[in-house]
Amino acid sequence: DNAGLDNGGLDNAAQFERAQRVIPGGVNSPVRAFGSVGGTPRFFVSSRGATVTDVEGREYIDLVASWGPALLGHAHPEVVARVQEAAAKGLSFGASTPAETELAELVRERLVVNGASPVEKLRLVSTGTEATMTAIRLARGATGRDLLVKFAGHYHGHSDSLLAEAGSGLATLALPASAGITAATAAQTLVLPYNDLAAVDAAFAEHGDRIAAVIVEAAAANMGVVPPMPGFNAALVRIAREHGALMILDEVLTGFRAGRAGWWGLEATGEVPGGTEWTPDLMTFGKVVGGGMPLAAVGGRADLMDHLSPLGPVYQAGTLSGNPLAVAAGLATLRLADAAVYARLNELADTISREASAALSAAGVTHSVQRAGTLFSIAFAEQPPRDYAEAKQQEAFRYAPFFHTMLEQGVNLPPSVFEAWFVMAAHDDVALERIVTALPHAARAAAAA
Ligand code: PMP
Repeated sequence: DNAGLDNGGLDNAAQFERAQRVIPGGVNSPVRAFGSVGGTPRFFVSSRGATVTDVEGREYIDLVASWGPALLGHAHPEVVARVQEAAAKGLSFGASTPAETELAELVRERLVVNGASPVEKLRLVSTGTEATMTAIRLARGATGRDLLVKFAGHYHGHSDSLLAEAGSGLATLALPASAGITAATAAQTLVLPYNDLAAVDAAFAEHGDRIAAVIVEAAAANMGVVPPMPGFNAALVRIAREHGALMILDEVLTGFRAGRAGWWGLEATGEVPGGTEWTPDLMTFGKVVGGGMPLAAVGGRADLMDHLSPLGPVYQAGTLSGNPLAVAAGLATLRLADAAVYARLNELADTISREASAALSAAGVTHSVQRAGTLFSIAFAEQPPRDYAEAKQQEAFRYAPFFHTMLEQGVNLPPSVFEAWFVMAAHDDVALERIVTALPHAARAAAAA
């Protein structure tokens, strides 16, 4: 009985049919189309805590968490209340609000390690794509150089310069790049293998005086989770400095999720090995910082950030930048994300990754688990992939039956093997039990593939 559901009488399949007639591929972001796992994407109508509910009234334990933002859980009552209060006072002013400054201060404070924060100033934007696009424009403007270094399998949003050999949906759909990007733009991005310092040294030896910046996911999580080799991020900062280039640490996905102060915080405090002495020049944030609303940010050293308009010559703007509803959601989420939240997320990541691995082992499926703070994913490869080439070599075909068997049992995993599994503080023991109970069935389906 779907009475009261906002489905217009259509089930998931009919919704998808209808959507495809008016929306390209029926989706507003490609990975949602189930391209690599096949089958009918679910159309959701509501969410609460650990669960999402589809148009047919089926409830799923969710391990997508809106691709990261839902750190606490879906529709956290306190976050929703703060957004409702903000909405009642006005949806958008196109002018400054006190809450924007509060959010910038809160981000700066969250990242203080040993008395200093890598974020001295912060500019709010609406998407992670805008944040990284702004960061590279800023780096080019500040250095007066053109070239950009990125790593294969890393996804930094869909701006022209950053789509070469990107992860996320391009990995899922096995696309080397996007059509519609000029050859001139593509030629300004050097794509290197991840975790390969020799390749970085060689690129800087050859082009060092023309490189504006190296951009890197703080810990890669768009080709599955692939953590940096200890010392890799620190070495990038050192090499960039030696050549007068900047290091942009993309924490859109990892920020305030991998750990309290993001992946950088885990390295800076020595919680994970990597080096406590390095500081990125610029950082980008998204997802959790907006608490489920469209909000992202670029931050860093004040002298660099002051190159942005209106102080400096690097232009950047946004009608809805610092939107009051989005800022309210971000502030409420970060304030609620205390040490207990991260302890729970780590416990969940421990349990789910251990149980998934045990189920796959019992079914005789070759696999490895990779972990980056609270983030993890499973690769169908004996050795944990260290770069994109290795990530692509896994038995990815085993994921579709694994995914669909979980879905049939009411667990919503990311619809691609190249994505992280996102835990939420709202995953209680009941939710955990449903996940753990479903895993052996999914593992057997993967074995049969
Ligand atoms: N950087 C990283 C590391 C990301 O994971 C993403 C999105 N998954 C982005 C940038 C782009 O963010 P958005 O989708 O908000 O544009």
